[in-house]
Amino acid sequence: MTHDFNGKSVLITGAGGGIGRATALAFAEAGARLMLTDVDVPAGDETAALVHARGGEAMFLKVDVTRETEVAAMVAATVAAYGRLDCAFNNAGIEIETSRITECDEAVFDRIMGVNVKGMWLCLKHELKQMEAQGGGAIVNTASVAGLKGAPRLATYAGSKHAVVGLTRSTAAEFARQNIRVNAICPGVIRTLMSERWANKDPDMPGRMAAMHPIGRIGEPVEVAAVVLWLCSSDASFVTGLAHTVDGGFTAV
Ligand code: NAD
Repeated sequence: MTHDFNGKSVLITGAGGGIGRATALAFAEAGARLMLTDVDVPAGDETAALVHARGGEAMFLKVDVTRETEVAAMVAATVAAYGRLDCAFNNAGIEIETSRITECDEAVFDRIMGVNVKGMWLCLKHELKQMEAQGGGAIVNTASVAGLKGAPRLATYAGSKHAVVGLTRSTAAEFARQNIRVNAICPGVIRTLMSERWANKDPDMPGRMAAMHPIGRIGEPVEVAAVVLWLCSSDASFVTGLAHTVDGGFTAV
């Protein structure tokens, strides 16, 4: 165990997915008390079961981050269960785009922006309100390398992740004097169901994905989790407003 989160309450959205689950397990290992949320109930339940199987403390709540009443209830449920909200990992996201912008449906734009931007905005709004009232906290938002660079055929996704970086920097500056730190992570391609969907598009894709990273491979969810824990920990006490890459050198070239 690198960091000590003993007794700290940690909220995770998208906790049923690859990065969310690995981060939940890492926080549990470090002693945190977890509020796990996802729109996918079986996946979220499975993450909670994995935490319990390792002796950790976790509750699962079905939450769609695009709905304000559910996001407000998610923060309230965390406080009801654990007394406060020490850390939040806003990680729920979707990538459903498959074409150039000229062929992309308006409904796809609305869905991506709804989850990745409005969902993030709603989580920040309610988490920051709670953290300000209790006197501090730490938040990590999941952006992407596509939040820092352009991504051909993923213009909407890239636009949404640039917005996550903008929300992160702005709220970090706004709440720095309230003892709240807000940072983003920008992963390269990470081995989860999301990247598997891209990899399945054509037989050359896995090789091309690996080659995008100077390190020569895609990343593992635990490698992202390690950075999230560091950003939430007191070791990162002077770090706020950062968009931290976890990308095997993807954005270095
Ligand atoms: P994933 O598909 O395994 O997990 C995403 C989770 O978000 C799923 O469990 C899904 O049910 C949940 N979710 C989707 N819509 C939701 C909603 N409206 N409300 C609540 N939960 C919702 O993918 P992942 O790779 O673990 O993705 C996690 C985050 O990492 C996403 O924000 C994604 O954009 C980002 N990301 C992933 C990669 C990658 O290569 N895997 C790279 C960069 C960034």
